[in-house]
Amino acid sequence: MAERYETVIVGGGVAGLACARRLHDSQQSFLLITENVGGRIRTSADGTVNVGAYYVRSDYGHVNRFVDRGRRIRRRHILRGDVNGSFTRSDMPLVLHPIQTVRLVRLLRRFRRHYEAYKQQCLTMSQAQAIEADPLLRELYHEPATDFIRRHRIEDIARSYLAPAVQGFAFTSVDRLTAFTMLVGALPLIVPMFEYVPRFDLLTAGFEDDLLFDSVTAIEATTDGMYSIQTRNRAFYSASNVVVATPAGVSSRLLDLETVKGAVDAHMFLVDGDLRRPWAQATYALFPEGDTTFGIASQPGGLTLFCSDSDEPDFGRYFSAWIVIEHHHWTPAFHLLGDVLMECEQAPGLYLIGDHNVCTLEDAYITGIYAANRILATSEDTPPPKVNSLS
Ligand SMILES: Cc1cc2nc3c(=O)[nH]c(=O)nc-3n(C[C@H](O)[C@H](O)[C@H](O)COP(=O)(O)OP(=O)(O)OC[C@H]3O[C@@H](n4cnc5c(N)ncnc54)[C@H](O)[C@@H]3O)c2cc1C
Repeated sequence: MAERYETVIVGGGVAGLACARRLHDSQQSFLLITENVGGRIRTSADGTVNVGAYYVRSDYGHVNRFVDRGRRIRRRHILRGDVNGSFTRSDMPLVLHPIQTVRLVRLLRRFRRHYEAYKQQCLTMSQAQAIEADPLLRELYHEPATDFIRRHRIEDIARSYLAPAVQGFAFTSVDRLTAFTMLVGALPLIVPMFEYVPRFDLLTAGFEDDLLFDSVTAIEATTDGMYSIQTRNRAFYSASNVVVATPAGVSSRLLDLETVKGAVDAHMFLVDGDLRRPWAQATYALFPEGDTTFGIASQPGGLTLFCSDSDEPDFGRYFSAWIVIEHHHWTPAFHLLGDVLMECEQAPGLYLIGDHNVCTLEDAYITGIYAANRILATSEDTPPPKVNSLS
């Protein structure tokens, strides 16, 4: 017999946990089945370095309640590489192109106003609906970043200043992104960002016993209007609502989705070593577009986080002596290529959440709140099931 639940959440990353948090706070029962807690929020073995999602912005209103803020990542602490191979800590490109800089800041401020309103909307309407409802965001969501850059005549500043920062965020070049994704990646230019320590103890407080560590292998609709969920450990569950909060590739397999955005990979290395100049002179380094290295972050404990496109970077270029302590291959890191816009409610009682449309911790978190809100609204309309756990 299948164990029966009102709601089963599949995936315990920030999106699934957000959904669980909201349901728990509203006294709704659920089971959360996941392979791990945190997903792409992951710390090094000693717990000191984020080897997955690295920073939070100050405008992560929901996520920031469940993290301890670390160092602020300031522009003056970042070395920026240019295509000629030189690195500078100054904001020289901004000085060299003052008119383009003013334009870029105006564009970012305008985008931010719409983006803030959209995030608010996303609590009560799906992300896809919220983007479609805002003409500016809808246009940016579908416009190639290169067209946007050309249209607004910010080519120089985009190449010299924006591209290294966006590549550090998206692990790919600007010309593969939409304007929306590029602008999300560029927001740290006007919004403070911080390193952080995740506090899963706070995020899961009160529902730790509702987590089950297993892997979901199949989700099927059954003739009684419920869903059957099967796991690798050959357990079966039945639920009125299923919230799928897995990475896009996994969700695509579980739900047989027609298409999702294109994937991007990244390698994170934790290195104990002596950085060479110029990289030893700053806390962070960003690299020009096309470089296989995306970023370097010196850690307070003396280690270095090294982010690359390559599984065998030329460490000798950056370090005089080094030992790789950890290597995490994020394959994929995320799906953010293209302009596919996924709807949250795939079928009655079947919700798709996460970073399928917009790839940040905060956006993923909000999709979890939205799915929970939908479930709460639906359960107000229908009487609770007679049996809530073992049948
Ligand atoms: C290297 C890297 C750096 C990043 N940097 C940043 C950053 O600095 N700031 C930022 O805002 N965002 C960053 N991101 C993006 C951010 O991490 C993601 O957008 C966010 O974590 C997505 O959360 P999620 O819950 O949708 O998915 P995930 O975090 O991937 O969670 C999915 C969950 O599903 C589980 N799961 C998978 N398959 C199954 C299955 N079959 N059955 C059951 N459970 C399953 C997994 O165990 C996991 O717990 C980064 C991502 C990466 C990879």
